[in-house]
Amino acid sequence: MSAAPPSSEGSVAEVEAGRTLESQNLSGRSATDEERFTAPVQTLRGVGERTAALLARLGVETVRDLLFFFPRKYEDRRIIRSPGAMVPGERCAVLARVERLERLPTRREGLLLVRAVLVGDEGDRGEAVWFSRRGLERQLVPGRRALFYGRTEGTPGGLRMVNPEFEVVPPGEVPQGGILPLYPGTAGLSQRRLRHLIRELLAPHRPLPADPLPGALRQRLALVPLDQALRDMHFPPGTPEWRRARRRLAFEEFFLLQVAFALRRRRSRAAEAIPLTTQGDWEAQFFAHLPFTLTQAQRRAWGDLREDLHRPVPMHRLLQGDVGSGKTVVAALALAAAAETGVQGVLLAPTEVLARQHLHRLTHLLAPLGWEPRLVVGGASGGERRRVREDLASGEGRVVVGTHALLSEDLAFRNLALAVVDEQHRFGVLQRAALAEKGREPHVLVMTATPIPRTLVLGSYGDLDVSVLDEKPPGRLPVETRWIPQAQRAEALEVVQRELAAGHQAYWICPLVEESATRSVAAATRRCRTLRELLPGHAVDLLHGRLPSREKARVLEDFAEGKTTLLVSTSVVEVGIDVPGATVLVVEDAPSFGLAQLHQLRGRVGRGGDPAVCLLVGDPATPEGQGRMEALCASENGFFLAEEDLRLRGPGDMGGVRQHGLADFRVADLTRDGKLLEIARKEARELVEADPPLASCPLLRSRVEATWGGRFALLGAG
Ligand code: ADP
Ligand code: MG
Repeated sequence: MSAAPPSSEGSVAEVEAGRTLESQNLSGRSATDEERFTAPVQTLRGVGERTAALLARLGVETVRDLLFFFPRKYEDRRIIRSPGAMVPGERCAVLARVERLERLPTRREGLLLVRAVLVGDEGDRGEAVWFSRRGLERQLVPGRRALFYGRTEGTPGGLRMVNPEFEVVPPGEVPQGGILPLYPGTAGLSQRRLRHLIRELLAPHRPLPADPLPGALRQRLALVPLDQALRDMHFPPGTPEWRRARRRLAFEEFFLLQVAFALRRRRSRAAEAIPLTTQGDWEAQFFAHLPFTLTQAQRRAWGDLREDLHRPVPMHRLLQGDVGSGKTVVAALALAAAAETGVQGVLLAPTEVLARQHLHRLTHLLAPLGWEPRLVVGGASGGERRRVREDLASGEGRVVVGTHALLSEDLAFRNLALAVVDEQHRFGVLQRAALAEKGREPHVLVMTATPIPRTLVLGSYGDLDVSVLDEKPPGRLPVETRWIPQAQRAEALEVVQRELAAGHQAYWICPLVEESATRSVAAATRRCRTLRELLPGHAVDLLHGRLPSREKARVLEDFAEGKTTLLVSTSVVEVGIDVPGATVLVVEDAPSFGLAQLHQLRGRVGRGGDPAVCLLVGDPATPEGQGRMEALCASENGFFLAEEDLRLRGPGDMGGVRQHGLADFRVADLTRDGKLLEIARKEARELVEADPPLASCPLLRSRVEATWGGRFALLGAG
């Protein structure tokens, strides 16, 4: 996360304050103080081009980056033991001489096991073992002394350290004590060097960045000052100090983002939007033609939307609902409101397949009102595209469905008043921004593919209002989910055969070849061929992302109409397809998929009245993968699975978060710091309410600006 420069077009805080950042002096500190921290690391003594390049690999470019480059863990060297005093089960530091080093034979091929016999000053002994660590021989030469750090295990033959970290201690030197940081590493940059660089930065005579948190807030929440937090985070004297430092830094991260959200929310509330007609007989007509009645949850969500839409202020709402909870109808109602008002609404879908399906369903839902949705996808022919373009420019096309092709430069809307974004996590923030710019201030509805844990919602969509569809339409039978080890995969084929024989349809999802779309397609093509051979007499068809769009549409139509009974596919069908006749879904190499993705895939079946099965085939390589398989077999509740997913991925893995939106934290952890996040959000909203220009805390303002200003400005009308 490098600090984004203030945007030239305007920014969150600036609009509130009505002046630019450059024009004022931040909290009376001299500019040089701030400049010191935004300066490149080369300005530090002893950092040359080589070190700078290595640091850059770690995402560290400025002095500030280095100060905020935090340890991934610590070594507690407050007590340094002799090998004879090692305690089983304890993680500790051991100082010893290497007596000998040997490779042990292992049963598993390719696995390297190295053992070192360690001797203490008193002649006491212990040992250390490493699995697969090359290059040990070069460093742990017999006779050398080293400090080992790691967990000790007890064995009948004695005690040994397992995979310890170590540092060779030159003759005559004493190892550094205390609690030492272990930084995320990169080859060529030793821990020793990183520690030294950072320790220098934290030396008592050097100034540290001023604290952006208002003093009163800090006191109220018992947060330590920034300089202390930085010192204790890198070199904690003890666990309590580290905890306090961590809490403070995590709070600041949350707080900066929540202030940005609060400012943006405030600003968007000040903007004008076209109020949509939410009364009149169109609604009655819509419901009269709907083949079902809305669930309670859908009614509630539509109630929320309706209230938002008829106000002259842009809506910013997130519609969260489990797969199959019926988000499309709610979106259709909003789009109808736009059309009935005489303005335009778009629905943005992540894939062409899904855009076409939406078109199909919206056409049905909106036909009774006389509206004919238009489609914008990449593959359209020149003539078609021109016609649609004219329709959008003239305003005749009131409801438009499409993929990111909707965002292209050459499309102009006459009066875009509503943007519905389906399956948001597939879209970059940029794309959302491009769409918002097409209308002046459209109402925005974001729909998620699968539920998101509350902390993630606050962390990534903090400025959106949220509606939740926590109920499924009636009559759904549960989908039986089974996990089948690779060795028993023939079972999957049997189930498919049985279901096809009973006149049902099936999906067969092929593994995703991460690094190569071409190979994914090749694998699916091969699988389709073998399944055709194995299932003579059944219509087996193939779907993948490389098919021309017309072909894709044809394949899907055939499947929807039941002409095809088995659809072999890469994971492009992951989102949204709705074919009630399908009762089995097989996922090959299921453990390679994410939990949310599998849950989403499973949602393809069980949409008709017949019992459905989901078969997850494959052998998980990690406990986490196993956890995902077990969670899916145990539950169909997307909200539960989302929490479970977050828990399984564990602290530190923010990959999924980034996917969801903006959150990108160094210290804060959405899996653990939920409470802190709630506090940060409340405080941020209160602060922005009381002092919108943040005049009382200019330093905070500039930090918010530097951290989030760029990305939020990208969100345009936001
Ligand atoms: P989502 O997008 O939330 O996964 P969809 O909008 O695709 O769900 O709806 C799933 C299926 O449920 C569709 O076939 C839709 O027609 C149907 N459906 C939606 N709402 C209801 C309802 N209230 N009663 C019965 N069926 C419904
Ligand atoms: Mg959907």
